[in-house]
Amino acid sequence: MATLDPATLPVEKRILHLPPLQEVAEVLQAGLRQNFAEVEVVAVDCPDLREWGIAGEGLGGNTRLLDVGGPPFLIPTVMREKLYDMRDYPQLTGLSEGMMIGAGAGPWPYINRNSEMMPNLFVKQDKTIIQRTHITRTNDEDGSYETLKLPESETRNAVLGNLFLCSGEPGKVLKVHCKVRTGEKNFVTCMREVLNAYYGEELTVGMGGVFKILQGKVWIHVMPDFSPCPINTDEDLNNWLKFYEMSSPFTVLSTLISRDPELDLRVEHGHGWGENSQGGHYHYDTTPEEVEYLGYYNLAELCYRVDKPTNTHQLGRD
Ligand SMILES: [Zn+2]
Repeated sequence: MATLDPATLPVEKRILHLPPLQEVAEVLQAGLRQNFAEVEVVAVDCPDLREWGIAGEGLGGNTRLLDVGGPPFLIPTVMREKLYDMRDYPQLTGLSEGMMIGAGAGPWPYINRNSEMMPNLFVKQDKTIIQRTHITRTNDEDGSYETLKLPESETRNAVLGNLFLCSGEPGKVLKVHCKVRTGEKNFVTCMREVLNAYYGEELTVGMGGVFKILQGKVWIHVMPDFSPCPINTDEDLNNWLKFYEMSSPFTVLSTLISRDPELDLRVEHGHGWGENSQGGHYHYDTTPEEVEYLGYYNLAELCYRVDKPTNTHQLGRD
């Protein structure tokens, strides 16, 4: 099935607040300490993230958040025609090339079925790509799941996506290391709420990056195939999704924004993968006393909203 012509997609953007990394490190250090027993947040040179399976070396240069489509294109009933090509994403965000990582719905025509996608690719100016994207699907027969690597030729993204784009350059990033969760919040929600509390309702701070759960277990969902009947409530949604407890190490591609600057955004989203074909949408860890998180994030300069649904709702955003 053909993807939507990028020239026809509505695009809005916002300039985000870009405080010094050192300041954000101090804010997160103090805030995360309310939720974790051990916390270290520092600005460091980005390690080579290709060793973490990322398509580019670092998180630097021309940083952007991209929110494309949204849950209203999935529920109550899927709009299969909402199919985008990630090769178009650099251009849609004002770049000639770019690396992108994040969370989205997989290209349903590829396996003739819905799936979770961990977008992770570098689209070069000459349109060649470095493809590290995986998808996770369920199997109806036995309720099992399976994670597959997408080929270079498959760059489609169905119905919704939340991505961090950049030039993939090395440079300073935030290292966020937390052990033993003492509060109720998950790793990402905690960071987002800390930023929101500090920067308030006027300044919007966005981040993208990658984190690993090094110790402990995580609660993950995988979307099965599109629901044959409409999903109208949170209860319908949770009955449709397949939930699993998965083990560490588990690597999550993550986006977050401190507040929604009236773009109908999904304010946090993370998809990841692990060993033994594990993969899917990160909710939280289930082992507070043993959990350990290590992440690298950079701030986004701009936030782009592409193909914002006109009939929106708040289902399916956590
Ligand atoms: Zn998701």
